[in-house]
Amino acid sequence: QRQPLVIANWKMNGDRALVVTMADALRDSAAQHAGVSVVVCPPAVLMPAWQQAAFYDNVQLGAQDANENSSGAHTGEHSLALVQEAGASMVLIGHSERRQFYGDNAKRIAAKVSHVLESSPMTAVLCVGESAQEREQQRTFDVIAQQLNEALQNIDSAERLVIAYEPVWAIGTGLTASPEQAQEVHAFIRNWLNEKFGPSGANLQILYGGSVKADNAEQLFAQADIDGGLIGGASLVPEQFVAICDAAQ
Ligand code: 13P
Repeated sequence: QRQPLVIANWKMNGDRALVVTMADALRDSAAQHAGVSVVVCPPAVLMPAWQQAAFYDNVQLGAQDANENSSGAHTGEHSLALVQEAGASMVLIGHSERRQFYGDNAKRIAAKVSHVLESSPMTAVLCVGESAQEREQQRTFDVIAQQLNEALQNIDSAERLVIAYEPVWAIGTGLTASPEQAQEVHAFIRNWLNEKFGPSGANLQILYGGSVKADNAEQLFAQADIDGGLIGGASLVPEQFVAICDAAQ
């Protein structure tokens, strides 16, 4: 069935010291995570340090983003080929912070997803989620459907794809969606994927993100359509992150 998956998104946090303490903490617990895929997405310049610290460990490396062009005059950006060479097997696409602050509009997100799937062997982790206002206006399902439609318009097979549901109002706020609120949206997403791709779509992993902590992870992950988590703040604290990985078993 669907393998539990927990992804750490360090955002613009962490340093070489955290790479070492996190790799050590995950190694000590690795036996317990036999059935859980664990992925760490540090800032890009820390990827080589992560590879060095965790090369022999059963933890995958991911990138927080990658440019939709293969190479060229894109100051400050990273290409897919480079993050892959650095060891990444997954790429986050369309995180709400990139949508809000760094110009990742629907067109760019669609281009990035296509680029990952067409030009690399990596998995695209597509992030979707509604704002507080959209939820209040009861537009959550419309917004999620629109984001999925836009991002996956050119994709016709459900391979190397993970969806992360991250309600914007729950990111970094300490306000977690209740397990029931999250499950409702996950079920909606799974149904959408089934309609677009058929059974292989319905079988994709769907992760919840937004103030997941050691003490709420288990309840969230117990929901039928929640296959794991995309973890921000708590992924910077080794004991917290290890506990969250444990809760995904
Ligand atoms: P927090 O876990 O800090 O709320 O962040 C969630 C997130 O945005 C992960 O991508």
